[in-house]
Amino acid sequence: MIQDLVQAAASGDYDALGRLEKVAAADPEALAGYLHQMLDLGLLWPPSLYRAAADDVVHRVIDQIDSGQQPAHLNHLLLILAHTRDPLAAAALRRWQQTPPPGMEQLHVGPLKYAEQGGSTLLPDGTRRELCAPIAFQLAMTPAPQAADGPACPWCDSPLWTIIDLTTDEPRAAEVLAHTGWQGRLRITTCFLCACYTTLYSKDTPDGDSTWAPHNAPPSYLQRSTEDPPPLMATIGERRATPYQASAWDRGGSTLGGHPQWIQDAEHADCATCGQPMDYIGLVGGADLDDLGEGAYYLQLHAPCGLAAVCYQQS
Ligand SMILES: [Zn+2]
Ligand SMILES: [Zn+2]
Repeated sequence: MIQDLVQAAASGDYDALGRLEKVAAADPEALAGYLHQMLDLGLLWPPSLYRAAADDVVHRVIDQIDSGQQPAHLNHLLLILAHTRDPLAAAALRRWQQTPPPGMEQLHVGPLKYAEQGGSTLLPDGTRRELCAPIAFQLAMTPAPQAADGPACPWCDSPLWTIIDLTTDEPRAAEVLAHTGWQGRLRITTCFLCACYTTLYSKDTPDGDSTWAPHNAPPSYLQRSTEDPPPLMATIGERRATPYQASAWDRGGSTLGGHPQWIQDAEHADCATCGQPMDYIGLVGGADLDDLGEGAYYLQLHAPCGLAAVCYQQS
């Protein structure tokens, strides 16, 4: 079956490609035996197909980049290496940060920045910091009427939306937030409208307080209208089989922890206080908020600074 999907996807069958992507999310190892063939066929996207790449596949991609023979594919090949999260790939990205491979001058970010697309940062001193949790849980939407006298967005006057309210006293929340270092209650508020225009930060404290961050700056294209946020809040559900099953498109795709499914390019926010990349903590899909909902809200956190970020992507 996978053999047929690979052939079809390489010939441009979009449905087959979507099914392969779902296999890569639910059981990355199932594709491990097909990766050389995918490289032969030029099936390089999405890079998540290559999560289970063994050393021989990683070597081949590194050699392909070093050879400089396919500069048009350099971006996809670097993304593949990032998604393998392999130590050989990390070593190559560090090497290219010093001595860029052919074609690198055409790309927008440096080699090390690519590691974030696979869910980690590579620091110049050789260490790796995980930006994503190794486990994930479904997020179920539960009714949560907003208090009429609650705080409002200073830009559009819509009531602020409590998108998530967790506490590390609960073992599942503690496990999924462990990589962030957060301890205590984590309540994140945002403006569900203005988050669609720019990354919105909130100042959050372990007693559950969440306030509009002074770092927020309205973009010139901001549309100001006032609406009530969804009367829903995300709560932890069943554990997912792998960290890769968040869906930004499908109903039931909202997920706490694991890795995000980005609709556009990966958008790991930098902490507005200290400038370091923030930790990814979850995704709330528009399809889970109402019948016509689209896009997805991505939640990020930098625990040392007590700052959370919400950004939104749509197709
Ligand atoms: Zn607003
Ligand atoms: Zn910070």
